[in-house]
Amino acid sequence: MNFIEFVKRYPDEASCIAHFRAIKERQGIVCKKCGSREHYWNTTYNSHDCKRCRYRLTLRSGTVMESSKLPFQYWLYAIYLMTMTKKGISALELQRQLGHKRYEPIWAMMHKLRSVMGIRDEQYDFEGVVELDDAFFKTHSEEKDDEPPKRGRGSQGQSKVVVMAKVEPKVGRPKKHKKSSSFRYVKMVVVPDSSALTVNQAVQGGTRAVTTIKSDGWRGFNRLSEIVSKHVRRTVKPEEASKVLPWVHTMISNAKRALLGINHQVKADYLQNYLDEFCYKVNRRYFGKELFDRLIVAAVADTWYGKARYNCG
Ligand SMILES: [Zn+2]
Repeated sequence: MNFIEFVKRYPDEASCIAHFRAIKERQGIVCKKCGSREHYWNTTYNSHDCKRCRYRLTLRSGTVMESSKLPFQYWLYAIYLMTMTKKGISALELQRQLGHKRYEPIWAMMHKLRSVMGIRDEQYDFEGVVELDDAFFKTHSEEKDDEPPKRGRGSQGQSKVVVMAKVEPKVGRPKKHKKSSSFRYVKMVVVPDSSALTVNQAVQGGTRAVTTIKSDGWRGFNRLSEIVSKHVRRTVKPEEASKVLPWVHTMISNAKRALLGINHQVKADYLQNYLDEFCYKVNRRYFGKELFDRLIVAAVADTWYGKARYNCG
């Protein structure tokens, strides 16, 4: 769906509400109070009112849109632009496009949608063969700006991220200049420190015990064998790292480029949200137009509220 088609289909608030409503009804609505599946549509409150007990479920309640005062049209436009543009869009740009006075609510809306993406991605399990690496992403945090930078592997203005790439080893003899495996999914987790325990927790959040993990010799990976069936560890020179762990390196550099492309600066507190958006789109790279529909489905799901991992306004 190109932009012209999109604008034709959703020209105003009413058409956007109708679309959110249709998606919600397609999923089926069950009354939280009495379990009835029969509802009236209430145009005054944009709600589904239970035919039996009158319990009111608004389009926003329990969803990512709960407690937001922004029109449904904003949400649909944000979903469209975040999923259907190759590079994504910044909050400042979206604010301009929507002609909204204040930056803050638009910024919060986008972060909420990113957190939805992160929750959706929890369904991908990283069973099989996983390339694992750690990476630094440039971030800023206002409180720490005046501290002198630390030396070594970590420093101020950088956030540590554990990156997992699930790969499928190719059968037969590897071709020259071709990667010996194909890429499936990626997951990125911001970690507070580099201890083996923290790293294990981050890895465990996505993987299954029956996984083979390939990594370099970084000390954060010291205790991986405690949580997965096999840990193949190779100490590699930096210049050879992309040969030994090709996909995880490709993903790290793509993510860095994607982040820089949209934002001048990413605040450390919100880095996870940006990474969630990146991974969500990579993991659904063959979805095409469906990416838009899927995020709407996630946005009207009333299981979001309270799950948001980051306070985003
Ligand atoms: Zn009811």
